[in-house]
Amino acid sequence: MQSNSLTRRTALAATGAAVAAASSLSTKPLRAQSKTDVVVIGAGLSGLNAAMLLEEQGYKVQVIEGRDRVGGRLLSLRDIPGNPEAGGNGIGSGYGRMIDIVERLGIPMLNSAGRAQITPFELYLDGERISAEQWPTHARNILPEAYKAFSPRLVPLVLLRQTNPLASFEDWYDAKSKPHDISVYDVFKNNGFTDEQIDLTYNLNVPYGTSAHDISALMMWFNDGWVASMEGGEPVQLSAIGGNMTIPEAMAKALSSEVHIGRQVVGIRSDDSGAEVVCGDGTVYKADRVVCSLPLPVMRYIKFDPYLPSVMAKGIALVPYFPMTQVHLVAKEPFWEADGWSPDMWTDTVAGHVIANRHNVDNTDVTSLTAWARGFTALQLDQVSPEEGKAWVISEFERIRPSAKGKLEAPQIKSWLRDPFANGDYAVWEPGQVTEFLHAIGQPHGNIHFCGEHTALSNRGMEGAMESGERAAFEIMDT
Ligand SMILES: Cc1cc2nc3c(=O)[nH]c(=O)nc-3n(C[C@H](O)[C@H](O)[C@H](O)COP(=O)(O)OP(=O)(O)OC[C@H]3O[C@@H](n4cnc5c(N)ncnc54)[C@H](O)[C@@H]3O)c2cc1C
Repeated sequence: MQSNSLTRRTALAATGAAVAAASSLSTKPLRAQSKTDVVVIGAGLSGLNAAMLLEEQGYKVQVIEGRDRVGGRLLSLRDIPGNPEAGGNGIGSGYGRMIDIVERLGIPMLNSAGRAQITPFELYLDGERISAEQWPTHARNILPEAYKAFSPRLVPLVLLRQTNPLASFEDWYDAKSKPHDISVYDVFKNNGFTDEQIDLTYNLNVPYGTSAHDISALMMWFNDGWVASMEGGEPVQLSAIGGNMTIPEAMAKALSSEVHIGRQVVGIRSDDSGAEVVCGDGTVYKADRVVCSLPLPVMRYIKFDPYLPSVMAKGIALVPYFPMTQVHLVAKEPFWEADGWSPDMWTDTVAGHVIANRHNVDNTDVTSLTAWARGFTALQLDQVSPEEGKAWVISEFERIRPSAKGKLEAPQIKSWLRDPFANGDYAVWEPGQVTEFLHAIGQPHGNIHFCGEHTALSNRGMEGAMESGERAAFEIMDT
């Protein structure tokens, strides 16, 4: 294994990924780490949950992470009032694993349920503000009669709820659901919507994917049933005080060995004697087993030896991740009090969907604003530099909202697509892909086990990540 690993390292060092990694990370001396029971790749929620569960069962675990921080797609912006989230936001009442971990680790949480409804989302189309009262009879309202009273952004949710064919949301991963793995566009069309209506309700500020054509209705129906199941009982919308990143930070701290950060993995090898993980800086980790929590687009650049099975490799290559770019804004003055309109906006500009964050512990004042650009709007913003992107969003904001002129600052812009450790927000399955790839991408390969939200079957988001880490840990315990 030793001589092979040197050959392997030399081969991997020749790859573009390794070169990029070596040039962008602060490197420690090249050396092979001593062998451990399990190496976990990625210190996001899924990898950390797997590591904690394995440690609890007596395994010796080493977590390695490519970034210079833990948390992955949990990213709290601690330099902005209220610590807005650039990644995972809300934890619902049904997030059993998440609630259990924050309780066990004693993390103080804020329940902001109801705050998102304090002010309504007002529509801005072609520079015109259209209030909720004006919308049902407004000339721009081209919706079918039965939907005219709904804001365009709610129409896909209403339609998908009305048409959901799944008896249980977990049926989405059952082979019998294959006939439902069609596009959201087809669902709209089958229910009499025109292309213009689909553009306004789905494509303008896509909830998932880049258009109704490239998103699986089966994924959306699963999402619909799952979200409903997460909302039972008292309304709950939890986030960690100090930012959700506090959660993975506490999880990492609870481990007996420190997470090795700045270790960008470029290759994973598995054979009868165990597994080796090779980093771009030349560090080699050896273990009996590996848990790989890497997002799918990142895995496209990882060299697996032996090669992954073809269906799995195809899924890794093809399942898209959601383009998402956020511009985080701070208002020097509450301009919404000056014009009397809502700070929450649904626009047809690059500012996309503007959400007023209310993250104070003791009051519901607006702490910051986030402009969410999704799908093609995110891709537009990603074409320009971060500073140009911030300026573009502010200028569009001020154009449609004159009272905001000179009142906005943009301390942060976050493109998830341009983030080399994520390359997108999360997996958004295209029509047909749930049936073809969902099971395959979570299967163990030799001594390599896979987790991450994209492999979760019964949950989504943070809870899905936790579920997947648990499943990977159980797979190892079962061997
Ligand atoms: C904008 C946004 C909003 C969201 N909103 C919500 C929400 O409201 N509710 C909800 O439940 N979920 C939400 N989510 C989803 C949730 O944040 C994710 O599902 C979850 O954090 C994913 O965890 P993970 O462990 O699967 O992946 P990750 O957190 O991505 O973990 C993978 C880890 O691998 C590391 N890594 C990547 N490449 C390498 C490499 N080459 N070598 C070594 N390490 C590497 C990464 O840095 C990362 O730490 C949101 C996500 C985003 C981005």
